[in-house]
Amino acid sequence: MTNGQIAAAPTAHRGSRPTLSIAELADGIRAQNRAVLAQAITLVESSHAEHQAKARALLKVLMPDTGKARRVGITGVPGVGKSTAIDQLGMNLIEAGHRLAVLAVDPTSRRTGGSILGDKTRMQRLSQERNAFIRPSPTSGTLGGVARRTRETMALVEAAGFDIVIVETVGVGQSETAVAEMVDFFLVLLLAGGGDDLQGIKKGIIEIADMIAINKSDGSNADAASRAAAEYRGALNILTPSSPSWQPPVLTISGLANRGLDTLWARIEEHRRIMTGNGELEARRRQQAVTWMRDMLTDRLLETVRRTPALKERLPEIEKAVAEGRLPPSVAVEEVLARLDLAGRTPPI
Ligand code: GDP
Repeated sequence: MTNGQIAAAPTAHRGSRPTLSIAELADGIRAQNRAVLAQAITLVESSHAEHQAKARALLKVLMPDTGKARRVGITGVPGVGKSTAIDQLGMNLIEAGHRLAVLAVDPTSRRTGGSILGDKTRMQRLSQERNAFIRPSPTSGTLGGVARRTRETMALVEAAGFDIVIVETVGVGQSETAVAEMVDFFLVLLLAGGGDDLQGIKKGIIEIADMIAINKSDGSNADAASRAAAEYRGALNILTPSSPSWQPPVLTISGLANRGLDTLWARIEEHRRIMTGNGELEARRRQQAVTWMRDMLTDRLLETVRRTPALKERLPEIEKAVAEGRLPPSVAVEEVLARLDLAGRTPPI
């Protein structure tokens, strides 16, 4: 988001930095004003302490307006057809009267120098829709930082009345787990491969999937897709499902041909009905909120440790000594705590 776009917010003072108050931001978001929403997201993404404090205050005000969307995570390797499928699914959903936000979690962007996900041009049709909002991944930060910003952005788009939020991620590192931790439903997109389909996928990702869709099931690829689906059904059968009320289905779809997407969404709705009825959805969200808080606390405490003057220079040396086997980790931790003036004041674990 450039400053030019921020300055375009209707109630910002001309030629000056954005000065919307928290109440003005909250009102603008509730009124579904896209420019104000974008400005609030910029606050959430900022690494300035002042902006973050303002973002926190805004999130607190908006809390009652959040949490109403269907939150769906979608993962898959680059080229699996995520953007094509989301573009088509999104158009179908908009046609059915929904308002859809697409957010991306892409912690690789700092290394590659540019986000490979969430680029607006990837979803050609959706990006022109008034009822769609596409937000690329925050351009820097650790996975924890990107996940925090994405969660907070999710709260903002929910307050702005988007009733479906898709969080997209490329299956790199731990990003799928981070996304699964912030959504109600986690969809894994796969491709039919050459007979050894099950080898190519990390077992962990199947364990967190609420559904698997074999994509590009069209043309001469349709038979292979059906065979792959049968194999994955077999694989899922031997895993204990994460919920006793839901056996993750395996579908074949084609994002390009708009095939199977209605069925796919119907299953997501079915999952929601079941999980709402038996209280599992609420339990999942409550658990996620607490996990999020703890993760954030851990990150903040570690960051505080790193920035403490008494440790700034010493910490890398301590870590080096641990890495080289010269210092037992437990002794290192005691030294860090001593420098924080906490030695003897923290309980053992
Ligand atoms: P992403 O990297 O996962 O977002 O994948 P894209 O949506 O950009 O798709 C990668 C390539 O696969 C593009 O050339 C698409 O045209 C093609 N593609 C995407 N979906 C389908 C599909 O359902 N069927 C076929 N045959 N090709 C597809």
